[in-house]
Amino acid sequence: MTDGTNLKTLVLLCPDLETLGQGLDLQELEQWLQETMPPVLVQGVPDLVLRSGELARAVAASGAARLVLGLSCGQYSTAEVQVEARKAGLDPLGLEVINLGAYAALVDPRSLATEKAKILLAAAVARARAYQGSQAQNVKPCLPTRLGRRSLFNLSLLEYRPVPSIRVECCAAAYGCEQCVRVCPRGALGGINSRISLKKSLCESCGLCLTACPQEAVEFPGYAPTQLAAQITTLLDPDVGTLQPRAILFTCRRGARALEGLARRGKIYPVDWLPVQMPCLGMVSPAWILACLSLGARAVGLVSCPGHCPFGQDEIIEGRVTFCRELLRRLDGSYQTVSLLRLADLREPKSIQAQAPSTRTRQHKAFVPRTCSFPSIDPQSAAEVFLHLAQVDGATAEVSLTHPNSPFGVVEVTDGCTACGMCAVACSTGALALEREDGNIALTFDASLCMACAQCLPTCPEASSQVLQLQRITDLQRLSQGRVVLYQDQDRRCDACGAPIASAQMLRRMATLLGDESSIASLITRYCPECRQLFG
Ligand code: SF4
Ligand code: SF4
Repeated sequence: MTDGTNLKTLVLLCPDLETLGQGLDLQELEQWLQETMPPVLVQGVPDLVLRSGELARAVAASGAARLVLGLSCGQYSTAEVQVEARKAGLDPLGLEVINLGAYAALVDPRSLATEKAKILLAAAVARARAYQGSQAQNVKPCLPTRLGRRSLFNLSLLEYRPVPSIRVECCAAAYGCEQCVRVCPRGALGGINSRISLKKSLCESCGLCLTACPQEAVEFPGYAPTQLAAQITTLLDPDVGTLQPRAILFTCRRGARALEGLARRGKIYPVDWLPVQMPCLGMVSPAWILACLSLGARAVGLVSCPGHCPFGQDEIIEGRVTFCRELLRRLDGSYQTVSLLRLADLREPKSIQAQAPSTRTRQHKAFVPRTCSFPSIDPQSAAEVFLHLAQVDGATAEVSLTHPNSPFGVVEVTDGCTACGMCAVACSTGALALEREDGNIALTFDASLCMACAQCLPTCPEASSQVLQLQRITDLQRLSQGRVVLYQDQDRRCDACGAPIASAQMLRRMATLLGDESSIASLITRYCPECRQLFG
């Protein structure tokens, strides 16, 4: 792992950007980037994705460790750009490519287009620097999605896509976790002998497994949460560029292509919406949406796929947006700041401007921009975002929302719990825990760690009596409470050696099952397993 904040970065810009439409002020861009994001080297290279070897030569001469391309059109071939990056000794999955042509051609005045280009390039530099590298197992060679002029004559050119790998030392599959397996829409992940494995041929790089894993055991180069955090915090940093206010526009790969298609037809969405492309919008969690608002975004939009999501995420995406809107409505009424946008909305920019109230009209009492950090995937960092939003006049708002897309759950136990601890063993996030102290045994629960995965429910031996119950609920008070005791009992000790045996309730239950007067019941309720061998 490297802290990439000081990695020398080469930014190559297409000189056409200067003359397309109103154009971008490339000289100002270069000077600003060098001052704002050092160490960065900015160069204009004509035909940089067309002339073989041009890009590799520029990288070699610069000695840069990261590369950002600002192109004038989106019609480049990823395979060709990746080949050039590899020639220069760079990891093709760490490349950042932005199509700035639409802003140069369609945003008026030139100074505004240049401002937007500055922020997007700075965020791309930050994202490139946060890239942690890939291994051979993370790379899948595929036929190119788009053929450029050169790849038309060289069909051996392949495009490299990221695929996930699992860090075995972090994975909780041995405790029954299969979250990644459950969300994979192509059945590419499977668990064998408590180890998760990937069938590369089935993986379509949607990234859904990455954000489903509470242990952060999934590596998916190019879309690591640290990269997204670097990109979004830079996009929303008021010290980076002067464009204000700003809104975040999450798109998927297909959505981004559709937006490029709109731009070719002369339609562009409002300049203050800053695009963030994900492999699939199903990766975008409520915590990420709300963190953008906490970091100062005026609004957050998710551009729905043209047609249906190829990974079947339509309902989940819509549900998460609805959840965020309802939570914001209950918090401070600012629900309009989050929306699911259709391409038709983006064809008519006025409609999305209307959906996103300006910072002046929005009630700000719950929002303190720039004191929240962008969360990772684990439930606790997500909970911190919610708690940040929930701070009103120094206290946590009393808001509780039961919703099928709530990212948090609340577990309760009813009469009949024996503190056997099976649920705590199955809980991969540590939300449930069995604690022994001062002669007591307690089943405890921390709502800020519970992601409502329901993995604990079937492990409860009392499942038929529904002793363990889970609600999909985001309760801000509960999130702030820390660990609470769900059930507590006397921790019975072995009569012979004093080792803990089980809770008094568990031993009463066993005695009843075995017959209260039987010698086996007496043996089991008085001695630990080792001492039973001696006395039995
Ligand atoms: S979701 Fe994460 S912890 Fe669970 S099985 Fe998959 S990789 Fe392992
Ligand atoms: S307590 Fe929450 S996180 Fe833990 S297994 Fe149960 S539902 Fe999942």
